Amino acid sequence: MSKSNYFDVIVVGSGISGGWAAKEFCEKGLKTLVIERGKSVKHIKDYPTANLDPWEFEHRGQLTLAEKEENPIASKCYAFKEDAIHFFLKDNEQEYIQEKPFDWIRADAVGGKSLLWARQVQRWSDYDFEGPARDGFAVDWPIRYKDIELGIRM
Ligand SMILES: Cc1cc2nc3c(=O)[nH]c(=O)nc-3n(C[C@H](O)[C@H](O)[C@H](O)COP(=O)(O)OP(=O)(O)OC[C@H]3O[C@@H](n4cnc5c(N)ncnc54)[C@H](O)[C@@H]3O)c2cc1C
Repeated sequence: MSKSNYFDVIVVGSGISGGWAAKEFCEKGLKTLVIERGKSVKHIKDYPTANLDPWEFEHRGQLTLAEKEENPIASKCYAFKEDAIHFFLKDNEQEYIQEKPFDWIRADAVGGKSLLWARQVQRWSDYDFEGPARDGFAVDWPIRYKDIELGIRM
């Protein structure tokens, strides 16, 4: 193996988590490889529906009956519609068997679900992190706001 094939870090997945981790690694000077299994997405060129008006869609933005029937899981997501369907992994492309209800909504492209998210950015506080412990539900978060605050300053 040639020296150019050596990496300090290999990040699997180019979604928000992997993409951000890769950015941090690169900024720290680590030779970083990002592996993404989804299709390539080129900025602008691969946003085929971004500038379409509602009346320009063949089905006015809705799914066809066949698309709904073939994708009972993905079509539970409000954004699985004519304008964004090309970024979703279809149900028959998921390599898992759903034994218990678990709606795994996945993107299939470089950028992962950052291509689909609704741009709502929650501003978490101590109050949110302490919720499970305070109110006695679910599993307590293993971190508190100050841990993230420290990470941001690093
Ligand atoms: C319609 C929609 C709206 C949303 N709106 C919001 C919002 O407003 N605010 C908010 O905070 N969150 C929102 N979310 C949630 C948010 O988008 C996701 O939580 C976030 O994008 C997940 O990022 P991730 O990197 O963890 O995972 P993903 O984005 O799923 O990235 C994982 C990546 O890994 C790749 N991958 C998986 N397996 C492999 C493999 N074996 N080899 C190589 N690559 C692999 C996948 O192809 C994918 O690109 C929304 C989600 C959806 C679907």
